[in-house]
Amino acid sequence: MSDIRRAQLVLALRRSGVRDPAVLEAMERIPRELFVPESLADRAYDDIALPLAEGQTVSQPHIVALMCEALELSRQHTVLEVGTGSGYQAAVLARLARRVYTIERHRPLLAEAEGRLCALKLHNVTTRVGDGRKGWPEAAPFARIVVAAAAAEPPPALLEQLASDGVLVLPIGQAHGAQELVRIRKSGGSVQSERLMPVRFVPLVAEKSKASVFSP
Ligand code: SAH
Repeated sequence: MSDIRRAQLVLALRRSGVRDPAVLEAMERIPRELFVPESLADRAYDDIALPLAEGQTVSQPHIVALMCEALELSRQHTVLEVGTGSGYQAAVLARLARRVYTIERHRPLLAEAEGRLCALKLHNVTTRVGDGRKGWPEAAPFARIVVAAAAAEPPPALLEQLASDGVLVLPIGQAHGAQELVRIRKSGGSVQSERLMPVRFVPLVAEKSKASVFSP
């Protein structure tokens, strides 16, 4: 049953303009029902954001697909994700890139995400509790960086940790107001940014707990 609903979701994504076949295939493979609260499992394949613990949300599938597409990923890339949340986008990224590093500030959310990534045997994902605005200096540089929470401007540490020829995709704007998905390309010494579309994300906030590293 969930296979059929996942295939329907992918058809809807295709109709709404997602073109990258690798992204569509990854979305078809990852069971979103594992990433949402059990009571909402029957809505897992609706194209809507769903609530998580700690007042956070699992992003809408359409936005996850567009962000992955905007990253122009290849199997050679190392990706940093800020804002693990449920782990859903990390799971999709794990199928598109060589290695995924993902940071979440809420330890309980991260523990649940780790369990799901482990159950799906996505062993190329490494997680950490901490403030994602500081990036992950020991694993830098990153060919690709994606942020799942909105900030007024790109965190300087993330720009620093982006490889040359790297791509950073993040929502920029006010905490509970107008936001835009922005793609930043670094080439040589220069940085170019491009607005992609209006979006709505939870805010990127300051550090909560001490860092720890886990690899499922
Ligand atoms: N990618 C997620 C969506 C997560 S919503 C998914 O697919 O489910 C954004 C997440 O960013 C929230 O879980 C929130 O706790 C986290 N977050 C907000 N500010 C952060 C920060 N400074 N560092 C790390 N995580 C942060």
